[in-house]
Amino acid sequence: MKQVTVLGSTGSIGVNTLNVLRTMPERFAVYALAAGTNFELLASQIREFRPKVVVVATETVRRDLILFLEDQAIPHPIPEIWQGPEALVTVSTAPEVDFVMSAIVGVAGLDATYQAVKLGKSVGLANKEVLVASGELVMAAAAESGTELLPVDSEHNGAHQCLRAGRRSEVTRLILTASGGPFRTFTREQMSSVTPAQALCHPTWKMGNRITIDSATMMNKGFEVIEAGWLFGFAPREIGVVVHPQSTVHALVEFNDGSVIAQVCATDMRMPIQYALTYPSRESAPVPRYDFTKPQQWDFAPPDLDLFPCLRLAYQAFETGGSATCVLNAADEIAVDAFLKEEISFPQLAATVEETLARVPRRTPQSVGEVLEIDSEARRVARSWISKQSVTV
Ligand code: NDP
Repeated sequence: MKQVTVLGSTGSIGVNTLNVLRTMPERFAVYALAAGTNFELLASQIREFRPKVVVVATETVRRDLILFLEDQAIPHPIPEIWQGPEALVTVSTAPEVDFVMSAIVGVAGLDATYQAVKLGKSVGLANKEVLVASGELVMAAAAESGTELLPVDSEHNGAHQCLRAGRRSEVTRLILTASGGPFRTFTREQMSSVTPAQALCHPTWKMGNRITIDSATMMNKGFEVIEAGWLFGFAPREIGVVVHPQSTVHALVEFNDGSVIAQVCATDMRMPIQYALTYPSRESAPVPRYDFTKPQQWDFAPPDLDLFPCLRLAYQAFETGGSATCVLNAADEIAVDAFLKEEISFPQLAATVEETLARVPRRTPQSVGEVLEIDSEARRVARSWISKQSVTV
């Protein structure tokens, strides 16, 4: 029986991870659940999955959860309930734990994931900010401990599957598909008046708020380019992006003989989650099958980098290297938050990131602590830039 820690259990990936674990009770048990503030959902997960330990973001949420569990008369034993970043590390590195699902959003999940990788735990990686902010350190730790990070992001999971078709030395190019988000066909003028409600309507995926806004700006695809570069050892110029609105083909890998292997699957995150959990074997999964008996159309088009400057900025930051991608991520997180609060307009999301990248000097972080310092500095700079703007909607 494998013991699993789910970091971010109340999020979109976390809930889907528990959906998968529910189907395989003879293979997996939940050791720990970690979440931010949603203690009501966490309580129902505790009731069903009976973890040994639970972690929440703050002491206030910890107290709320304890009171709620008492009110709900959850049958004993009640799990230990801890709070804060150190507790996230403890539940990710505990000797009992075999598999860590890294699905917290943002750099809050970085240290716990890094420490699990260092110890050689199997890690399912959904939290793309881990590699965007700190790819060099995390991949060096993985090489040293001999563990493989198993990608949960559908494009990287698809690429992981395609790459099993040949040797890395035979691969010439990796292509990630992008739905193009809700504004794929918008003009520049239409882009300037986009509202948070419009940007939160993703055409093909149901996800958390941050990644949904990042999909609308295509910053998410930029993060994925960086994540893929670190995961599979590709330079920025070896990774292409193609807009594929149907989100059916997730990744394509081109080999040196011109052959291209594509991974196709329904848009259901349970598939990549289960793949990561059961790798290297494949198990039957309860996801919709693709129906090739029905007529259908798959479109592919190059992304418009003028309409989606965030994708261009991500490529540039990846080329620059060092702390640039950490700054990119931090500035974007602040910008997304400000956009959702209607403090900046949709085009100002990219402007915030561009201005922050220009203002924070490039460094080469030597530790996760240093990455987190750079992250804080970039957030300060981004906030300060935003405070001087007026919404141009
Ligand atoms: P959500 O916003 O739905 O969930 C985020 C999770 O992180 C929640 O459980 C939240 O808890 C938890 N969390 C936030 N801050 C903290 C903290 N300080 N301590 C502990 N837990 C915290 O995000 P998604 O599930 O959509 O995405 C998670 C990650 O996976 C992101 O990095 C995203 O880019 C990536 N990803 C997501 C995909 C998807 O389909 N959703 C696809 C591919 C990648 P709470 O809600 O209780 O506050």
